[in-house]
Order: sequence, then structure tokens, then C-alpha cells
Amino acid sequence: MKKIQTQVLTIFMVLFIIFGGCISFFSTRLMQSYANESQQEDLIEQSKLMLSNFNGVADTVQGFPDLKREALKVKKYTNQRITLIDLAGTVIYDSSVDDAPLENHRNRKEVQAILKGESQGTATRKSESTNDTLYYVTQPIVDQAGQVIGILRLAKPLAEMNQLNGQIRQSILVFSVLALFLTGGITFLIAKYIAKPIEEVMDVAKDLSNKQYETRFSGNGYGEVTKLGETINELAESLEDQMQEIAQNKERINELINHLVIGVMQLDEQGNIQIVNPAMCQIFEMDSNDLLGRSYLEATKSYGLSHLIEKAYRKKEIQNKEIYFYFPAERIVDANVVPITGKTKAETNLIVLLYDITEIRRLEKVRTDFVTNASHELRTPVTALKGFSETLLDGAMEDKAILKQFLEIMLEESTRLDLLVNDILELSKLEQKQVPIAYEEVVVKEAVLSTFKLVKQKAEHKQITLNLLEEDTVKIEGDKDRLKQILANLIDNAVIYTQAGGTITVTLKKTKEHALITVRDNGMGIPEDEINRIFERFYRVDKGRSRNSGGTGLGLSIVKYLVENFNGTIAVRSKVGLGTTFTITFPLHHL
Ligand code: ADP
Repeated sequence: MKKIQTQVLTIFMVLFIIFGGCISFFSTRLMQSYANESQQEDLIEQSKLMLSNFNGVADTVQGFPDLKREALKVKKYTNQRITLIDLAGTVIYDSSVDDAPLENHRNRKEVQAILKGESQGTATRKSESTNDTLYYVTQPIVDQAGQVIGILRLAKPLAEMNQLNGQIRQSILVFSVLALFLTGGITFLIAKYIAKPIEEVMDVAKDLSNKQYETRFSGNGYGEVTKLGETINELAESLEDQMQEIAQNKERINELINHLVIGVMQLDEQGNIQIVNPAMCQIFEMDSNDLLGRSYLEATKSYGLSHLIEKAYRKKEIQNKEIYFYFPAERIVDANVVPITGKTKAETNLIVLLYDITEIRRLEKVRTDFVTNASHELRTPVTALKGFSETLLDGAMEDKAILKQFLEIMLEESTRLDLLVNDILELSKLEQKQVPIAYEEVVVKEAVLSTFKLVKQKAEHKQITLNLLEEDTVKIEGDKDRLKQILANLIDNAVIYTQAGGTITVTLKKTKEHALITVRDNGMGIPEDEINRIFERFYRVDKGRSRNSGGTGLGLSIVKYLVENFNGTIAVRSKVGLGTTFTITFPLHHL
């Protein structure tokens, strides 16, 4: 703020001092010389005036006493030094030295001028008699006949004349100093008036460059500066709007990136991470704060990805590849690396997009495995049917006993085939969520009892006891038939995998929010390392027993899907030789 004001003031003061100084100097000189001249002229005039008192007073040189008398008279009326000199240079009278004899003045410049016939003589000199510097004026004194008989000399100390010069100098100095202060003050105020709005506009511009877009010019200015201020205000408004828009867009983009399931990160020219989204953090299993600013080499920990990024930097072309991650977790990602322009055109930044396709690939594998397993499972009964029917046609049907035995086997195999096909179809329908589910109130106890009826014969055959332990009356909202299907599968398995004489207990319980159904048997159990696999399709722990009992290996897969359709979960605990417990948890509300 002070800068312009100070500059204007300084420039003005300097100019004022230079010009004022010059004017003062020359005017002082002029006035001094004018004062000197006028004093000198005054002295000459005085001498001329005085001369009238002397001219014609004496006829001859002898008349000098008369002149001296006149001089003494005149002296009373003037304070000038009066000297009367005869033509020989002898001083007849001198008002400043009284009667003391003075040396001959013949050679004095002013006396010489008169002796040479000039009408007047002047000189400035240090007086030997008074020791002052004096200004001398001489006039010729004439007798009645007009003959020069002597010289009148008036002298005035130069100091006296200079006194006036001093006064002039002093006055001009005082005037100059006063003028300097006055104009300085006025200039200060004017500079302030000029500088203030300019400084304000500058401050606004500075604020804008410091990203303070809400700043505005107050409008207190003049002429062009006000217009400049208004333009700056318009600029500030437009900048503020633009910045708001940019901030909004940035926020939207951030929201979008943060909610993308695809991992996104931006790398700068040096390969350091500038932007990273939560999906990317999840893939690297690192916090965004740890990733930001870090080099991609440290962050990715994958040779494949690092290589792809490095290739994109080098070729400046989009790179795409399916990459296997072994660390921190085994993952398959579809990586896209897109080069973009950085802050300057020469800089290359990269956008790295990682789409985690581990689950897609796993499901694809599950599906191909399923097709392979299903074909394999189907082939067994089909081969048997084909083999037996061919054997019969080859003549074995002539033997009634063999025919009956073969037909019984063929019936068994076709039943198995039917079961398999049904289970496969059921599973595929469940997978595609094509199974219609009714929502009704289901009393779980009733569902358990009707399932007991289904397996009763099989259980009695193995002398297996079926128990229902109803700790709470449990009612859930869901599809009754689907619940029966779940229970039938679990209880049927329990009967199959429990030795004769065993016990199967179904317990019904509820907590505040959940219904718990457990199916416990004291059968053969499942080895610990296989527990997690029993829900896989076609997975059987005891292949022989499962197949003999008509199991397809798909029962628990179907159960799992059905439970999930109820928004429930299924868990299993088992100990080989001691038994197995399946626990199903259904939410009591919001089914
Ligand atoms: P399956 O049709 O062969 O019974 P499931 O999918 O129903 O097929 O069961 C998968 C495997 O889990 C079975 O082959 C069996 O080995 C094991 N299993 C299931 N239930 C029990 C149980 N209650 N006790 C012991 N093993 C069981």
C-alpha cells in the first residue's frame, strides 16, 4: 500500500528540491545582484545629491575648509563614509577617521577614474584605514567656473549591503522550506488518494493469485481505476464460479472413483502414486495414506504389473493384460494402463485400472468343473444302462434270472440318472434364481415332523432314533417346501452317514433376531480337512457309501443355495467317529 504513495512522494520531493533549489538559487542570485545594484545606484544618487552641497562652494583648492565644513554638515544626515580628496590625492576630510592623516589616495581606482576625466568612479576594496570591505563611489567637485577642484567619495561597507542579501537568502530559504512542507503534505494526500484504490486493486489481484476467490474491490476509486477494479471484480466472480464448478466436478469424480469396483490409480511422471481409490487399496491390501506418494514398484509388488506399467511409460500406448497377483493375496486382475498427458505436454502420467476378475475366473472354473463332473457322473449310469442293455440284446435276455437281475440294475441306474438330472436341474435353477419362493409363516416344528415322516422308514431300518428338541417355538417367514427340502437333505444325510443304532436330534431355538435349527447326529463324522469342501458340487467324503445310498454329491450344494435364498447361513461342526452338527441360522425378520 505504502509503496506507490512513497514513490510518488519521493519523486515529487526530489523534483521539487531540484527545481525549487534551482529557482531559489537563481532568484537569490538575481535578487542579490539587484539589491547590490540598487544600493550601489542609491549610493551614486546620494553622492550626486551631496555633490550639490559641494559644487561651487570653493573657488580654488584653498576653499577646501569650506568644503570640509559642508561635509561635516552633510555627515549628520547620512551614515555613509564621506571622503574629500584633492586632485593631488591628498585626503582633506574623511568622516570615518576624523582628522588623522591618511595616505595619498591618488592611486585608488575610483580616484584615478575622476582624475582621468570620467564623470564618476566606483570600486570595491578593503579599506586600509577602516579595515572593512567597502564599496566606493567618487564624483568630481567643481568650482563656480565648472573646473574640477576635488573629489567627493562616498563609501558604504559591503557587509551592510550584504546584510540585505542575507535577509533575501534567509527569506527565500524559509519560503522554500515552507513551500516544501506544504506541497509535500499536499502531494502526500494526493498520492494517497491516487495510490489507495490502485493498491486495493493490487491487493485483490494478489488475493486472487493466492486462491482467495471471495475477495472483491470496494469500488472506492476514481475514473479508470474504478473500471479496473470492477473488471477485477468480474474476474474474481468468474474465477469463484469456475473454482466452485471445478471443486464440484472434482468431488463428483472423487465420489465416482471412490465407488468404482475397479481399482483406479494415477501415476505421475516419476511413477509415484497421485490418486488411488478404495478398490485399488483393497487389491494391494494397503491404506491409501501408505500408497499415496509411493512408487508403483513398491506398491504393486507384482512383476507382471510393474512390467506392464513400465511398458506403457516407454511406448506411451495403452497396455492391457490379465495379470496374476501372488501377494498379498492370490488374485487375477484385468489390468489396463492408459498414458495421459501430465502437467506439461512433455510429461506422461498413467491411469492404472485393475479389475479383479478372480471371482469371475473362479466361477468359470466352477462351471467347467461342474460340466466335467456332471458328464462324469452321468456317464456312469448311462454306461451301465448301455452295457446291460447291449448284453441283454446280445442274448443274455434269454436267461430269465439274468434278465431280471440286469433289469433291476438298469432300474437302479436309471433312478440314479433321474436323481442326478433332477439335482443338476435344481441346482442350475437355483443358480439362476429361477426357483419361485413363497413367503408365508412357517412353523419350523411342523416342517421337521413332516420331514421325519419321509425318512422314518430308512431310519427305522437302521434303528436310528429321530428326536426333536423344541427349546423355543420357532416360526420363520419363508417358503415351507424349500425349508422341508433343506431339512430332508440334512436329515437324510444324517441317516445315511450314521451307523445303525445312532441318534439324530433336531433342535429348534431362537435368539432375539435369529432362528437356529441344528441337525446333530452321532455318526461317522467328517475329517477336518474336508469339512470346508462338502458344500462343493459332487464332493463326497465317502464316495462308495454316498453312491450306494443313491447320493449325487449335490445335496449340500443345493442346501447351501436354498439357505442363502432365505438370507440365512449354514455352518458345520464335525468330529470323525463322534458325529456331525449342521447349524442353520435364519433371520427372524426382513426375510
Ligand atoms: P451326497 O449326495 O453324497 O450325500 P451331499 O452333498 O449331501 O452329497 O454331501 C456331501 C458329502 O458330505 C457326502 O458325500 C458325505 O461324505 C458328507 N456328509 C454329508 N452329511 C454328512 C453327515 N451327516 N455325516 C457325515 N458326512 C456327511
